[in-house]
Amino acid sequence: MANKKQNKLEELLFKQESFWDLASPKEQNLSFEFAEDYKKFLNISKTERQTIHESVKLAKKEGYKEVSLDEKLPRGNKFYFINRNKSAIFISLGENKLSQGIKMLMAHVDAPRLDLKVRPLYEDSGLAYFKSHYYGGIKKYHWPTIPLNMVGTVVLKSGEEIEINIGDKKDDPVFLISDLLPHLDRQDVDKPKVKGEEMNIIIGSRPVNAKKAKDRVKLAILKWLHENYKMKQVDLFAADIRFVPSFPARDIGFDKSMVAGYGQDDRVCVYTALQALIASKDDNTKLLFLADKEEIASDGSTGAKSLFLDNILEYLLYETNTPLSVNDLFRKSQAISADTTGAFDPDYKDKQDISNAVNLGQGVVIEKHAGCGGKYYTIDAEPQFIRQIINLFDKKKVVWQTGHMGKIDQGGGGTLAIYLANRNIEVIDIGVALLNLHSPYELASKADIYSAYRGYQAFLEN
Ligand code: MN
Ligand code: MN
Repeated sequence: MANKKQNKLEELLFKQESFWDLASPKEQNLSFEFAEDYKKFLNISKTERQTIHESVKLAKKEGYKEVSLDEKLPRGNKFYFINRNKSAIFISLGENKLSQGIKMLMAHVDAPRLDLKVRPLYEDSGLAYFKSHYYGGIKKYHWPTIPLNMVGTVVLKSGEEIEINIGDKKDDPVFLISDLLPHLDRQDVDKPKVKGEEMNIIIGSRPVNAKKAKDRVKLAILKWLHENYKMKQVDLFAADIRFVPSFPARDIGFDKSMVAGYGQDDRVCVYTALQALIASKDDNTKLLFLADKEEIASDGSTGAKSLFLDNILEYLLYETNTPLSVNDLFRKSQAISADTTGAFDPDYKDKQDISNAVNLGQGVVIEKHAGCGGKYYTIDAEPQFIRQIINLFDKKKVVWQTGHMGKIDQGGGGTLAIYLANRNIEVIDIGVALLNLHSPYELASKADIYSAYRGYQAFLEN
C-alpha cells in the first residue's frame, strides 16, 4: 500500500532522464548509425554554400526537383527553391496541397567563421597575409594556431564564378593565424586577449624572383592566385571567401557516444531536419527552410527576415490554385525553429543555473524561449503548442528535455523562431544542445542528434 502511494507521488514529478536509460538497445544502435552519415555531411558542409549544395544533393536523390520562380511549377509534389546558393526551401506537397497549412522546419546554414576584409592582402616581415574579419559570435582566442581551410566563391571580370576549396585534400596546404608565445605574454597567459586586427592569416613566405620589386611575397601570392584561379587582386573584393577550421568531425570518448565537429550550430539541425523531411511518409504538406545569416541577426536577402519564404509560398498558392492569401497560409501553419542551444558545462557552473540547464544525452531540447535579459530577442511559445509537442513526443517515445541557456542576465542568444512567429506562424524552438557552442570544434551527443531527427519527423507527420 505504501509503495503504491509512493508510485502515485512519483508520477507528479518531472524527471529528465538519459536517452541511454530510456531508449531500447536497437534505438541506441540506430543513434550510432545515424551519426556516421552525419559526420560525412559535416565534413563537406563547412560553409553556408557547401551546406546548401550538400542538402540539395541529398534531396535530389529522393526525387526533389529544382523550381524556378520564373517558370511554371513542374509536375510532381517534391520541390526545392534555391536563393543565391546560400539559402533554400524544400517542400513536399500533400494531398491537400496548401489549403490546410504547412508543417515547417527552419534551420540555419551559416556558422561563426572568419571572412576576409575587402582589401585583405598584404606583406609584413617576409610573410604574406590575409586580413580577416570575424563573422558571428566567436571567442577570438580560439582561432589562432588552428589549421584553417579557405573556401569560397569569386566572380571574375568575365562574370565567371570560381569555386575555391583548399584544405580538405591530402596534399592541400592549410592556413594559420599566429599567436604570441607565452614567454612574452606572462601577464595575459591565462586571459587570452586577441584583437580583431590581430587575426591575420599567414598565406605564404616565398618571394617572386624579381629582386627589385616591392612586396615580393605578396606578388608571389597574386601570381599563384592568377595561375590557379585567373584572379587579380581586385577579385578578392567581388568574393565570398571564408576561413573555417580544417579538422574533420570525429567521435569523442572511449564509448564514441559523442561527435565533435565544426559548425554543428546549426548544421546538426539542418541535417536532422532534412533527414526527417526525407523520411516522413505521410500525406501532410511540409516545408524545410534553410536560412543564411542567422549568426549576424538574419538580415539580408538570404536571411530569415527576407521575403524569400513569402515569395515562394505566394508562387505555390498561385500555381496550385489555392484560394488563400499568404498570410492566411501562415496563420494555418505550424513550425519548429530547429536550432542548437548551449548544454550545461560542469566546468563553468557559476554561469549556469543547474536547475534549468540542459544536458548532453538527455534528448532533443524543447525551449519555451531563448533570448537575453527580460526575454528580449525571443518568442515565448504558446502553452497550447508546447502541450501539443510534449504529448506528441511522449506518444512517439522521442526523448526530450527542456531548460534554458545560462543564468538570468548572464547573456543569452536570439532565435530564428522570431521571424516565423512575426509572420503569425505557430512556432517553437526545438534543437540539439551543444558543448563548446560557437567554438571551432563543437560537441554533440549522438543521443540528442538522433532524438532531434525522431522529433522532427514526428512533428512533420503529425
Ligand atoms: Mn544557431
Ligand atoms: Mn549560433
